[in-house]
Amino acid sequence: MNTSVRHIEADVVIVGAGPAGLAAARAATQSRSVLLLDDNPAAGGQIWRGASERALQSLTRRRETGPLASPRIQRMFGVRIFAGDAARRALRAETATGALQIRYRDLVLATGARELFLPVPGWTLPNVMGAGGLQAMVKGGLPIAGKRIVVAGSGPLLLAVADVLRSKGAKVVAIAEQAPARAVNAFAWSLLQHPAKLLQAAALRTMQWGIPYWTDAWPVACIGNQQLERVMVMRKGRRVELECDYLACGFGLVPNTELAQQMGCAMQGDFVKVNDAQLTSQPHVYCAGEVTGIGGVQKSLDEGGVAGSVLGAAPVTALAALQRSRARWRRFEASLNHAFALRPELSTLADDETIVCRCEDVTWGRIRAHSHWLEAKLHTRCGMGPCQGRICGAALGVMRGKTGWQVESIREPVFPVRAETLAALGARREENS
Ligand SMILES: Cc1cc2nc3c(=O)[nH]c(=O)nc-3n(C[C@H](O)[C@H](O)[C@H](O)COP(=O)(O)OP(=O)(O)OC[C@H]3O[C@@H](n4cnc5c(N)ncnc54)[C@H](O)[C@@H]3O)c2cc1C
Repeated sequence: MNTSVRHIEADVVIVGAGPAGLAAARAATQSRSVLLLDDNPAAGGQIWRGASERALQSLTRRRETGPLASPRIQRMFGVRIFAGDAARRALRAETATGALQIRYRDLVLATGARELFLPVPGWTLPNVMGAGGLQAMVKGGLPIAGKRIVVAGSGPLLLAVADVLRSKGAKVVAIAEQAPARAVNAFAWSLLQHPAKLLQAAALRTMQWGIPYWTDAWPVACIGNQQLERVMVMRKGRRVELECDYLACGFGLVPNTELAQQMGCAMQGDFVKVNDAQLTSQPHVYCAGEVTGIGGVQKSLDEGGVAGSVLGAAPVTALAALQRSRARWRRFEASLNHAFALRPELSTLADDETIVCRCEDVTWGRIRAHSHWLEAKLHTRCGMGPCQGRICGAALGVMRGKTGWQVESIREPVFPVRAETLAALGARREENS
């Protein structure tokens, strides 16, 4: 097949049309033209997946920024950016039918986060799913009325997921939160500083009246023949078996930093390092949202708003207001991460037969013989399948500790792409050089 390459020159390019990207787009269009890209078929990101255009307008509303439907915004969906070159200010992307070469003056990476999965015996059985993943499938039409579902893992996302499942007629058997009761209670008290969040949490729990919310509880095994039939949960030191049709499980979020890293942006721990204007260590490359820290939707909106306002030369007072709000949500981020820190027991859930790398079918017994990520990868092929270590790499960071177990050498393409896309873009690059 002959892949056609389309060339696009843009002023501000924003990768990711979730809350951060949408807020950045709104603000930047004060005075700039924006190209907003996302690999999903529509805007909204993880939290507003499937929301209507009108709903997105009101969800991202900020008085000090321009309209989301501005003629200055061009949107392209189903576009996956798989490489960037900060020196040339260029991106390379693939669509369902072709390839794109994009030039930008300024770039905002708002690529969000994915769920953290921790392998437990039996987790590869059908109907064991990510909490947010199952929620997305249900929002997309998966029928679950009458199904018994255990929701497990960590963080406030579990409540949001349970609520969606319940509203679609599922029977949520229990919510198993790994954090201890005292940490969850302290977090609840800290929400007094964020009344809107407190009300949201209270409303969610009220609607879930009758659904057990267990703290100090986490899944230790998934049991079934052809598919999941029961989940074994460790609860306050005792094992409890719960019959269910689905397990919706997520232990927090992992930032999608691969594109920023491949472009040479400096990191601060697990996240992309940014300054007060959301600018990274690379000139003209900004980052906003979960990619700089897992702090919830308001933090993403404020960071996107700051990046867009800087680019759109917004009035100083408007920018300062956003920066103050961002500081508040960063404090919320800190208390969230403190309360829902993962307990050490979670690093020992897998047994020797448990598959850790699902792409290449590599078990924990084979991986644990190795002393670091690269060695394990070379000897077992873990992390060498289509997900390129996005799932097993993050899990191993918890199971083995971060030192030596970070996914190394992030190179293009950061996502698997068709060979003909690489060939077409590669040929074009040689012509241009
Ligand atoms: C599975 C999941 C479900 C969630 N559900 C909820 C919920 O119900 N309630 C809640 O309060 N919070 C939820 N969250 C948390 C929520 O995502 C954040 O609070 C907030 O939405 C983050 O906004 P963001 O703009 O930073 O990132 P996101 O909303 O994640 O948006 C990032 C966007 O960038 C796109 N993208 C990433 N890389 C590329 C690339 N290379 N090329 C093109 N596009 C790319 C992604 O597809 C995505 O659309 C969920 C998180 C996850 C991972």
